[in-house]
Amino acid sequence: MISNSFDSAVGAFLSAESRLGILGNRGSIQLCLLYPNLYALGIANLGFNRIWQLLDRESDITVERAFYLEPPHHAVPKSWEWKRPFGAFHVLAFSLSSEEDYPAVLEFLMSSGIQPRSSKRKPRDPIVIAGGLAPTLNPRPLSLYFDALCIGDGELLIPSLKRVITGSTGGWDRQQVLENLAATPGIWVPSLKEPDMPIASWRFSDDPLGPARSMAISPQGHFGSMFLVEVGRGCGRLCFYCATCYSVPHRIWSAEVLENTIDQWARPPGPVGLVGAALSDHPELRQIVENLVTRGYRLGLSSFRADILDRGLLELLRRGQVETITIAPEAGSESLRERIGKPISNERILETARWIAEAGFPRLRCYYMTGLPGETSDDIETLIFLCRRIQSTIRSTNSQTRLDIRISPFVPKPGTPFQWAPLALESALKKAQQRIRSALEGQHGITLRMTSPSEAWQEALFSRGDERVGLAIEEALRTEKSLRQTAVQFGIDLKTITHPLPVDQPLPWRQIQRHISPQFLEKQWSKSIGPPEPQSG
Ligand code: SF4
Repeated sequence: MISNSFDSAVGAFLSAESRLGILGNRGSIQLCLLYPNLYALGIANLGFNRIWQLLDRESDITVERAFYLEPPHHAVPKSWEWKRPFGAFHVLAFSLSSEEDYPAVLEFLMSSGIQPRSSKRKPRDPIVIAGGLAPTLNPRPLSLYFDALCIGDGELLIPSLKRVITGSTGGWDRQQVLENLAATPGIWVPSLKEPDMPIASWRFSDDPLGPARSMAISPQGHFGSMFLVEVGRGCGRLCFYCATCYSVPHRIWSAEVLENTIDQWARPPGPVGLVGAALSDHPELRQIVENLVTRGYRLGLSSFRADILDRGLLELLRRGQVETITIAPEAGSESLRERIGKPISNERILETARWIAEAGFPRLRCYYMTGLPGETSDDIETLIFLCRRIQSTIRSTNSQTRLDIRISPFVPKPGTPFQWAPLALESALKKAQQRIRSALEGQHGITLRMTSPSEAWQEALFSRGDERVGLAIEEALRTEKSLRQTAVQFGIDLKTITHPLPVDQPLPWRQIQRHISPQFLEKQWSKSIGPPEPQSG
């Protein structure tokens, strides 16, 4: 029964999907590309799409996909295209953009009949690999479960991976493939290389494939049938908390390349989504938007720096039927914004909010964080005050623009200046959220959404941990105990999550060599926390 309804659930997704240039080669190497989260998110994830594109063009590889389904099919261990068990593949490749997907990875492996721990796999078992932002930040937490982890841009890693894998067809020798992978730059094979040995994060400078783009569109995608294209990767602003900008260098695609890509794969009225962490810093953004709007495309965009938007660009975006403008003030006070490396004035934010309302956008979305290093209860009041001022600025224009406020607890990320910062105590985060809720919830024209402190706790545990995190997740899945219980059982000191980490102690992800030096991170961290407090007594 479950199998039949699995087939029909998957069939409904696949039949609604329009593929854009997927070749569907039937090579002798069998590879299943897994996205350990819902289809809606995976098909809208450009990292996943890029890896699918890179693998699909290899004539000697057959690529199938699998996504996580809602219960009762969550983690049914079969490929979606031809419904084959995971054990039928040479390679299971996980695309891991977020640490929150770690439990789903283990659920897939534990239900597949393949040994979840890499050390127990047999010569005929698939090679289980992972790549994406999460392992690039910190590959340790699931390193007992993956045979190999790819660190950095997939554009350079996939060809090397492919050479190693396809070079082994004349008799699949699992151990030989692993040894060859271990000798490949940017790939870590935990069973063959100690976690202390350095691994350089790989990054491309020029890619003949052009920008990452949607390889399929579906009304069931997170952004509906929007064609997504990457305008650039990384960001040069280096805000102290931002994992995206410290994990890869900032690069952009030219207006010409982007317009050619869009013309090849999308048709007016689109919609077309321009994606990039540093979208507002693209020097040709106005030209790109103007050309697309003039040609009749509807647009969608990722978030903007509030101090970059101007009236002219906003009017263009409105003509492109953009519904929501997203900015990320992150904090309510200018001094706290200064401390997190994002110096934007409140006056500039308010001016931008006014322009957004005047241009008639249905929604202004603002992202904030609570529990930032150095935050005080006054900062929470300032955040509430700023939200109210934005709302009254919008209302004073007589606009119908709604204010959509999103608040998440700050979670320290590896490889950033805030990697040493603590997660705020759950009690403090809850208190701040209660205060914000009582001040803003139900206010006219305001929608408020907050990420729960317990989700943030789990994210912090997964982000900064080592192998014990994977063991704790596995145990929690097997026994249905809480993660807190199993984390303690495997010797994780929970205090380390809510205490600052000492800068002179080695961090679990110290092996990863990035484009930004550890000395620079340390300098920025001490710039943020300021000089040490004088000792009393
Ligand atoms: S501006 Fe945005 S993308 Fe750039 S570093 Fe700051 S937070 Fe990251």
